[in-house]
Amino acid sequence: MAYLVLARKYRSRTFEEVVGQEPIARTLVNAIKSGRVSHAYLFTGTRGVGKTTMARILAKGLNCLGDDGPTPQPCNKCDACLAIARGDDVDVVEIDGASNRGIDQIRELRANAIFAPARCRYKIYYIDEVHSLTRDAFNALLKTLEEPPGHVKFIFSTTEAEKVPATIVSRCQRFDFRNIPTCRIAEHLAMVCGKEKVKADDDALFRVARAAAGSMRDGLSLLDQLLSGLGEVTDEEIIRVLGTPGDERVVAIVSAIAGGEAAAALGELARILESGVTLSSAVTSLGDAYRNMMLASTCGADSELIELPESQREAIGTLAERFSTPTLVHGIGVIQAAGRGLRGSSVARALVEATLVRLAEAEKFVDSDSLIRRIEDLTGSPPAGARGRKDLAARPRGGAGAGDPSSVSIPSAVADRRGGAAADGSSSVSSPSPPPAARAFGGISTAERTEILKDPLVTAVTGLFGGELVDVRRDSPPAEPPDAVENSDVAEGN
Ligand SMILES: [Zn+2]
Repeated sequence: MAYLVLARKYRSRTFEEVVGQEPIARTLVNAIKSGRVSHAYLFTGTRGVGKTTMARILAKGLNCLGDDGPTPQPCNKCDACLAIARGDDVDVVEIDGASNRGIDQIRELRANAIFAPARCRYKIYYIDEVHSLTRDAFNALLKTLEEPPGHVKFIFSTTEAEKVPATIVSRCQRFDFRNIPTCRIAEHLAMVCGKEKVKADDDALFRVARAAAGSMRDGLSLLDQLLSGLGEVTDEEIIRVLGTPGDERVVAIVSAIAGGEAAAALGELARILESGVTLSSAVTSLGDAYRNMMLASTCGADSELIELPESQREAIGTLAERFSTPTLVHGIGVIQAAGRGLRGSSVARALVEATLVRLAEAEKFVDSDSLIRRIEDLTGSPPAGARGRKDLAARPRGGAGAGDPSSVSIPSAVADRRGGAAADGSSSVSSPSPPPAARAFGGISTAERTEILKDPLVTAVTGLFGGELVDVRRDSPPAEPPDAVENSDVAEGN
């Protein structure tokens, strides 16, 4: 016996079995129960979300021979139910609109539609990809739609609803099929694996479901491919079929980035590539991880927008706490730029590696929360005063350009230690470009500067940011000449 692909073997047979389109199934059940079935339906939605499946269930419900009239629970045993499920019933005609798009086909349909059904209650025409019909064909169809014989029902489906003429749409009851949520696809795949007696862990199936991107048919096709190998869903097989790295591997990269450990991130990337994952797929996975962290950071780790199995949610939630939301948003931009640059690049790997380094460094440089933490670590106390903290937090953290932070204000702790400045004075550290030689060091003398640089805190901070001492700003300037004030502005502008 020929192998029956899973998508066909496990196609839903009743309204109750429908996965992910429950509201539509409920409406149709109610229509059948109340005898208010429309004479024409339009099913819209991307491929593999259950439009044909729903059309066949509806056709079975209308024509099942196991009942005296239309039923919301077709028997799936009578000749009509079986033939409709196979797609070759005499009274339920399935037409592929893409290959039968001309006026002749629709004329033929109209000529046949006037005859009563052969054995069932209704003659049902299911036209898939109805948007492909020619304009003449649509016009011919419209005439039938305007005055349909009582025994005729139409079900149209399309992946491109906007291409269906408004005159047709307005004569149909329209149902928009949604993309099926990843977790629902994953559940269904697990059910199928159970029935097929195949071993598969939930995380692996979740990755398959995620790759299916809302299409149950794609999910089942991927599962078919996986099972064609060893009959077991393993990580190696998933990488072979999907070409995507494991979630835990991606988490390891992001974790390294969060710690500012560029070398570790590059090491993880190398391991991922060795396992057979392509560069672009690695970048996509990294982008997904950043998206999930951004969602965890803004909507909470339990948000349903996050496409992750339960086991990975906590990890990504914890990781997200190590970034600020703007850093994550910025990161997505950086990753997107890398993804775009990959195509046709002769230095694709270098580009991706540079991206990882930049993300790792960006976190080190740009995230103000981690800056504050680092400064706290250095001083052993929080930056003095709420004002100092606010100054830091208010700095733009995006730094979208070359990853060069502008100057960073070091709160009064520095000045205090220096002993010379006013209590709430603050130093400016700018990096990486040195100030023009012509610019003297603001209001500080060379001796003063040397003195400041001896301060271990200043040394640590300049080392941390690759910066250099440019100026000392004092909030009470009367003692300073006017040009010193000007200089402090220059330092600010970078
Ligand atoms: Zn039946």
